[in-house]
Amino acid sequence: MSESSGTVERVILAEPRGFCAGVEMAIKALTWMVRSFEGPVFCYHEIVHNRVVVDRFEALGVVFVDDIDDVPEGRPIMLSAHGTAPAVVDAARRRGSFVVDAVCPLVTKVHHEVRSRAEKGYTIVYIGHDGHEEAVGTMAVAPEAIHRVEHVADVEALPDLGEHVALLAQTTLSHRDWAAVAEAAHARFPEIWTPGRSDLCFATTNRQAAMVELAPRCDAIVVIGSANSSNTLALERLARESGCATVLRVNSVDDLPRRADGSADLMGTIGVTAGASAPEELVAEVIAALNPTNGTETLRVVDEDEYFPPPRNLRDLIAAVDRFASFGLGGPPTRGATTGDRDVPASDALAALR
Ligand code: SF4
Repeated sequence: MSESSGTVERVILAEPRGFCAGVEMAIKALTWMVRSFEGPVFCYHEIVHNRVVVDRFEALGVVFVDDIDDVPEGRPIMLSAHGTAPAVVDAARRRGSFVVDAVCPLVTKVHHEVRSRAEKGYTIVYIGHDGHEEAVGTMAVAPEAIHRVEHVADVEALPDLGEHVALLAQTTLSHRDWAAVAEAAHARFPEIWTPGRSDLCFATTNRQAAMVELAPRCDAIVVIGSANSSNTLALERLARESGCATVLRVNSVDDLPRRADGSADLMGTIGVTAGASAPEELVAEVIAALNPTNGTETLRVVDEDEYFPPPRNLRDLIAAVDRFASFGLGGPPTRGATTGDRDVPASDALAALR
């Protein structure tokens, strides 16, 4: 950290930051949907929790709904990355001409755990945020067998749950928040079953690990992400807990505090990170506005190279369209349109849709 000189001297960029593999997959899948179908394409819930991403797709004619009954019969439907209640998935299939479930595979894993433990007669203690779409979708897998808790006091208030109790969690919780409640659950139910590997996702954990190293080095931290993004709020909280006095969460560059001359009203060394739903273009705009006199450096804590391919039925559809187009044009079949999917960042796909 530095003595303030009235200007932003340096920006330290957290790495990893921004889009995770699940968000990458969901955004590119919706991009494929927009390209493959005549509009409107419908999406159940925000595809990811970021206003810029949602606005971009709305401008392309995607209609976001919170009730499947609002989708006209026969229209293509995408289900969001947060995971969807089984009854809603069934309703979408009955209604939609083509349904793509862009649920993150890590959320699917928790759905499987809930289903299998409930079938084995367990009662599940699920650590999750009240009303969060992932928590709502996961609990709907076995509502009769699940108790949601968020705080230690919630665990203490649980009734006797019998002999077979399992502990599962929302993927995007902060490790600190999860650990305290998990510890209370172990104390209350000493024989509690837990998965071999915690449900907390690598992307959330990696972004938080970067924050723990970043915060003590900075005069202020800027966290880019939306207020309804659970992992963004966890980053904001962690920045404060890690010893940084000034922590700002911004949706975009427009939320940065400004002086009368238009420059950013921050000083010294500024740490910048982004939640898992925030596109890299927002990071670039924030850095440009901070305009550091001594440039930008990157603080990398881990390499992240996870990749989730598009949902299978979407891959099959795109391959079929691709084969048909090749055949119609008289050319040889191509290697498949999604072959290069891994090499195209969702930020680029998103930017190309402008
Ligand atoms: S934050 Fe984790 S669980 Fe959520 S979409 Fe990204 S990778 Fe999947």
